[in-house]
Amino acid sequence: MDLALLEQRLNDRAQPRYRAAQVWEWAARGTAGYEEMTNVPAALRSALADEVPFSTLEVAAQSEARDGTVKTLFRTHDGHSVEAVLMRYRDGRRSICVSSQSGCPLTCTFCATGAMRFGRNLTASEILDQALHFRRIEALDHCVFMGMGEPMLNLDGVLEAARRLPDLGITHRRTTISTVGWLPGLTRFVDEVEEPIRLALSLHAPEDALRSGLMPVNERYPLAEVLAECRRYFALRRRKVFVEYVMLAGVNDRVEQARQLAELLDRRVFKVNLIPYNPTGAFEGSSRRAIDAFKSVLDRAGVPATVRLTRGRDIEAACGQLAASRDAAAA
Ligand code: SAH
Repeated sequence: MDLALLEQRLNDRAQPRYRAAQVWEWAARGTAGYEEMTNVPAALRSALADEVPFSTLEVAAQSEARDGTVKTLFRTHDGHSVEAVLMRYRDGRRSICVSSQSGCPLTCTFCATGAMRFGRNLTASEILDQALHFRRIEALDHCVFMGMGEPMLNLDGVLEAARRLPDLGITHRRTTISTVGWLPGLTRFVDEVEEPIRLALSLHAPEDALRSGLMPVNERYPLAEVLAECRRYFALRRRKVFVEYVMLAGVNDRVEQARQLAELLDRRVFKVNLIPYNPTGAFEGSSRRAIDAFKSVLDRAGVPATVRLTRGRDIEAACGQLAASRDAAAA
């Protein structure tokens, strides 16, 4: 829902100030439409239904994986594609993965989103509407900004959306913003964000030459500077930084590279999440054995490490797979 438009229309109708909050509260609780908002006068409800679309996004397609993961393809009013994912875990956790941009201007070699055409930054309402869509399906408790796009290139939109997530039941401590290390945004995030929102860094390589080959953005913002900013986040906020490391066979998964990574990362500051590679074409994923060997090096060095559970691969909803085939085919 375009919340600025909502306020404007309520103002036009000389509605009391609390009205916008009332409408938002219903929406945040998963209400399906204006008609259910019983404490809003009926005439106003139908006026709003005409003037303020209940969502800024249209659902273009939705699929459910065997593991219960739901992937939704949305379309913005100006025709851009956006994907978001609901992940369901056995312990009852319900986590959503939302997009901050349509497409992504960065061109990480292993990620399908980077291969599609970049659209634009999403508005805060368009980001929130992804979350609200899933909230209408069921109660949610976690949100990761790990869908399409680079959140630090759209920090204002991302923060405006993230700040409203608690109304949907997702606390800041259960909200994670992931970045490639886009320094201007990251620096602002470290300096300005006082809410306990978590930070994740997509690292993927323990040294600059390899990282620049995998992620061209590294030439602009090299490892040392990005890691320094993460350490500053820890010093200021006292919260660990999650490091994402996608496991590519023969590229970044050797035992020596695990040692290099352990050297690089201060174990008090960082927690490593090893990500099995989800097929997007360019690479081979590491074997389970290679992943385990890599992890035990980190374990022995005392660097906390876990292996990410892969979800939704059969519907191309897993990390790095968003908006892959259809857009590539359409382009
Ligand atoms: N642009 C931000 C937000 C996207 S997060 C960022 O990169 O951090 C998406 C995560 O999935 C990133 O860690 C990304 O590196 C990872 N990823 C991309 N392609 C992948 C693939 N094919 N398999 C597994 N993980 C992948």
